[in-house]
Amino acid sequence: MAPKLPIGRLAPSPTGVIHLGNIRSFLLAWLDVRSRNGTLLLRVEDLDSPRVKKGSAAQLIEDLQWLGLDYDSEIVFQSQRTVLYQHALEQLIEQGNVYPCACSRREIELAASAPHADDGSTVYPLTCYQRFSSYEAASEQAQRPACWRFHFDQPNVDFEDGVCGAINFDTARLSDFVVSKNNGEAAYQLAVVVDDAAQGVTEVLRGDDLLDSAARQIVIYRALGLDVPEFKHVPLVAGEDGKRLAKRHGDTSLQHFRQQQVSSQQIIGWLAYASGLTDDLHECTPQQLLDGFDLKKLRQQPLIWRGEFSA
Ligand code: GLU
Repeated sequence: MAPKLPIGRLAPSPTGVIHLGNIRSFLLAWLDVRSRNGTLLLRVEDLDSPRVKKGSAAQLIEDLQWLGLDYDSEIVFQSQRTVLYQHALEQLIEQGNVYPCACSRREIELAASAPHADDGSTVYPLTCYQRFSSYEAASEQAQRPACWRFHFDQPNVDFEDGVCGAINFDTARLSDFVVSKNNGEAAYQLAVVVDDAAQGVTEVLRGDDLLDSAARQIVIYRALGLDVPEFKHVPLVAGEDGKRLAKRHGDTSLQHFRQQQVSSQQIIGWLAYASGLTDDLHECTPQQLLDGFDLKKLRQQPLIWRGEFSA
């Protein structure tokens, strides 16, 4: 039987302009799927309402076109799919995978017993686990609608990442996480699983800042009885100090480069060269990188941005 063609996706959040880090992940996701004649979907993750910026979805779509990164079929917007997320949440409630949580962020941070994860984020101290007999009781305690947290019921989550290799997560470090926020909106972890499954996505290539999220998403897939896609987490773009690109490294937004008259071929050519995909630095289109593309060639270290598109 012929191997199944991959189905991948680009899943940007329209929270502002896209920058070099996003472009590199999108380029790799595009190349990895297109080089094997697969299908690439575009899903706009516009759920996180306060962070979603008006007009940025349209800009994002235009930017992808300018870069030469095309996609198949209609664009999906998460904001139009709340019914699907609600159904999945109901299933998790019925199965007892989630519990209502009355804690505010501040209460979690203040909880004396709250240990801190290596990355400085707060680990949820399980305050509300087995605490309330109903969602209403939790909401009453919180004096506003409660959120729903997913409970890890195993000490570890293992999986094989297509780029990072064997991964083993200690779930006590990740701790129980929110799948539905107290404004009733599905949290990223739930929405992304429901959508990737509903869209038949077989491979997820994205930045390795989301590696922890893969562990959370895998337990949701399993609880909902859905097939887990293959994950491929690629190193991020970093500044000269080795830290993830941020404002202090200068403006790396696509808007800025476009204003500076940098061409899309310059950006793509530099990203390909700096990622180890080409032997010399030259301008090119994503299409021109397809021939001979192999994700195994990708440098395993973060790609360093030194402020210019030079070797
Ligand atoms: N929308 C997420 C982001 O822009 C990415 C989600 C994903 O690739 O799973 O960070």
